[in-house]
Amino acid sequence: MDRRYSALKRLYECCSADPLQFPTRLRDDPSETLREIGVGEDVVRTDEALVMLDGLCTQSWEKNPYLALYRDRVLAVEKLIRQRASREQFASEKMYRYINIVRNRIFLTNREFCGHDNVLYYPVAFELSKGCSVQCPFCGLAASRLAGVARYEENRLLWHGILAAVLEIIGPAAGMGPCYFATEPFDNPDYERFMAGYREILGTVPQTTTAAALREPERFRALLSFLGEDGLREAGMRISVCSLKEFYRLMRMYTAEELEDIELIANNPESVNRYSASGRMVGKEGIRYPISCIAGLMVRLPDREVSFMEPVNPSPEYPTGVQTFETLSFRSAEDFREKASFLIEKWAIDRIHADTRLRLTPRVLFSREDAVNGLLIGKAGGIRLRIDSNMEAMLLHLQGDGISVSEAVASGEVNVLAAGRLLGAMETLFEKGFITLSGKAVRDPDEG
Ligand code: SF4
Repeated sequence: MDRRYSALKRLYECCSADPLQFPTRLRDDPSETLREIGVGEDVVRTDEALVMLDGLCTQSWEKNPYLALYRDRVLAVEKLIRQRASREQFASEKMYRYINIVRNRIFLTNREFCGHDNVLYYPVAFELSKGCSVQCPFCGLAASRLAGVARYEENRLLWHGILAAVLEIIGPAAGMGPCYFATEPFDNPDYERFMAGYREILGTVPQTTTAAALREPERFRALLSFLGEDGLREAGMRISVCSLKEFYRLMRMYTAEELEDIELIANNPESVNRYSASGRMVGKEGIRYPISCIAGLMVRLPDREVSFMEPVNPSPEYPTGVQTFETLSFRSAEDFREKASFLIEKWAIDRIHADTRLRLTPRVLFSREDAVNGLLIGKAGGIRLRIDSNMEAMLLHLQGDGISVSEAVASGEVNVLAAGRLLGAMETLFEKGFITLSGKAVRDPDEG
């Protein structure tokens, strides 16, 4: 436990959650303001807090002792995340390649992800409840009302069987998968028991985000002790804060030290954070980026269903930024294993072939530089291409409804001798996220 780090972290959180009023209050009455947020002057002196305030508000690493300490911790977490998402953690090359192609596509088409190298896409997630009791007004997944939960005792054997199956099919990377999605973990009274089973089979503890830390403080504290300091750093526990009033209640309910390893996500409208205009925020001001990090299996235990899904940029067709390709029911762990393997084989597409129909990824534009060069440009990156007559013919179709290399050759627009080279170029563009499968692509309102 690091008292100074946790106190500095709290100051930072206050500035982020309440950027209009907190800095003024701190300047006007530093001692009282520090006391109100539970930061002792023996840990952070008022003059230090005031000097640091500028650093906090301007995000200057040099001036700001918190950001310097935070950077060291983030580097350690990033190292752990990179290990967890490395090739060795996947049972097959296919799923590893697929996840990275999805990640490349999302990063390329959203500026919001720039500099967030620790954003990962998970190959599996589990819902232990159906719907959510919290009903946040900003819910990007537009979670439905709570309609039931899966109890541990009734599902113990099935749960253990499912976890063993994902370990076999996906590999240790399955141990990154959260046990919530459009759900509140604490809605399930047995959440901790499911987590204990998860730790037993997968050897890790899943990341938890809860909006119920105020509603159930004893349970929240018990979960913190269950995880322990190492488990907490490994699991990445987060509290979602819905309003400024809630934020200051949290400050009073928990000490800075208790929340040292907990990330507070300030979702109150006054905060510096911005919502994605998806789910319940569709049509409101905001950037449309996908908030889902699941590219693979979604296991819904209450309904005994497994789906294959992928994050997409929110659009009228997919307002929550989630595209679900297929959903199957299962009756037993063995049945689950078969269905899950089938879905991965069918939908985790990591390679293209001559007859794969392709199109430009929505939000990627083609522009001509000069007679021989062109650019494909996404919101957060681009690539230069040499454009000969074959590539030009292909690009014309990729900008529209799409085409395969075989179709382009059959139509006479592409020389048969150039087909191999063109397919190689398409494979590279597909892996980097510039083109996608035309049947899977979603029209984006930002497109011309
Ligand atoms: S944001 Fe989370 S807690 Fe809030 S309604 Fe959506 S799923 Fe529930």
